[in-house]
Amino acid sequence: MTDTVLDRFLRYVVIDTQSDAASGTQPSTEKQKDLSRILVAELLAIGLSDAHLDEHGYVYATIPSNSDKTVPVICFCSHVDTAPDFTGTNVKPQIIRNYAGGDIQLPGDPLQVIRVGDHPALGDQIGNDIVTTDGTTLLGADDKAGVAEIMTAAQFLIDNPDIRHGDIKILFTADEEIGRGVDKVDLKKLGAQFAYTVDGETAGHIEDETFSADGVEITIQGVAIHPGFAKGRMENAIKIAGAIIDRLPKDIAPETTEDKQGFVHPVGITGSMEKASLGFIIRDFDDEGLAAKEAMLEAIVKEVMSGFPGSSYTFTVRQQYRNMKVVLDRHPEIVENAVEAVRRAGLVPVRGSIRGGTDGSRLSFMGLPCPNIFAGGHAFHSPLEWVSRQDMESAVKTLVELARIWEERA
Ligand SMILES: [Zn+2]
Repeated sequence: MTDTVLDRFLRYVVIDTQSDAASGTQPSTEKQKDLSRILVAELLAIGLSDAHLDEHGYVYATIPSNSDKTVPVICFCSHVDTAPDFTGTNVKPQIIRNYAGGDIQLPGDPLQVIRVGDHPALGDQIGNDIVTTDGTTLLGADDKAGVAEIMTAAQFLIDNPDIRHGDIKILFTADEEIGRGVDKVDLKKLGAQFAYTVDGETAGHIEDETFSADGVEITIQGVAIHPGFAKGRMENAIKIAGAIIDRLPKDIAPETTEDKQGFVHPVGITGSMEKASLGFIIRDFDDEGLAAKEAMLEAIVKEVMSGFPGSSYTFTVRQQYRNMKVVLDRHPEIVENAVEAVRRAGLVPVRGSIRGGTDGSRLSFMGLPCPNIFAGGHAFHSPLEWVSRQDMESAVKTLVELARIWEERA
C-alpha cells in the first residue's frame, strides 16, 4: 500500500459512496461505510489509535499533541459521500500526466469534453498531472480529494515529529451532499475548539462566508364554487398563486444574480381552486437583506390578495442556516492562520464566499467555528470533474502548516 495523496485519492474514488436524499436511514446509504471502514483501518495503521467509525457513519480520530504548550484543538473535516446528481458507480480514473494545455476528451463518452473555454482554471495547470474520469461517472474529488489530503497530512505529521502541533481531530462525515452531514455529529466527543472543512475548489482559496438562508411557505385559501355558478364569486387559488409568481422581480432570482447578490426563488407549487401552496427559498449574505427580501415577498402577496377579498393567506418563514462569517469574525485567528498556512504552502491566499451552505456553516452555529479551505477539485457533481495532483499536494502542505501555525502562535 502506497501513501502519496494521489495514491490515496485513486484508492478512494473507486469506492461508490453516493448518498441518497430519498432514504430515511443514517447514513442514507450503507455503502458510504465501505470507504469509512477503510479510512479507519488506514488511520489505525498510521498510528491514530482512537480511530473509529460510529453507528451514524462518522469517522473520528486524533493526531495526538507533541507540544508542551496548551494549543487550541483544531479539527480537519471532509465528507465521504458523493452527490446524487450523477452516478458514482464504477469510477475509472485516468491521469493526464504533464498536461500540455487544450481541451481534454474523456475516453468513455465522445460527448464529454473538458473544454478550456468552460473551465478556465485549466490554464493554471500546465505541466501538472490531472485526474479525470472516463466520462461515464463523476469523479468524487468532492470530497475524496479532501479526505485523501487530510489522511496524507495526518501521515506526514506522524512521520515528522519535529513539526510541533497540538491535538488535531479528524472528522469524516457522511451525507453532506444531501444536507445531513452534521445531523448526528457528537461535538462533545470530537472535543475541538475550531475546525476547517477541506471541501473547497481552487488552490489557495479560503471561504469564510456563506449565504444566510430562510424558507418561506405561503398558503392561499381561495373561494371555490361550481364553475357554472361562479360569476363574480369564485376566487381561484391557482390563479392567485400564479399572480404572485408573475410579480416576482426578475432581477432578484438565482438565474440573474451572482457573487454577493441574494435572491428570492420559488421551489415548489401545488394547488387546486380552493387552496394553493407556494414554497420559496430566500438567500442573502446578511440578515437585513434576508428580512428585506421576505418583506418584499409578503408585500407582493398582500397586493395580489387585495384583489381577492374573499380569500386569505398565511406566510411562514423558517430559518434554514446563517452566514458563518458572524461566528468566524469573533475568532479572527481561525481564518488568519489559514491565510498564513496557504502562503507558507507557496500559494496566494484568496478569501471568498460561497453561494450556498456547507457543513462548516452549520458547525459554526452549533458551536464549532469552521471555515472551508480548498481541496483542489473542479466541476463538482459532473462527469467533467477533475483535480490535479499538484493542487492536492498543496492542500496537504496547507494542512501541515496550519497544524504548525496553531502551535507556534499558542
Ligand atoms: Zn463537498
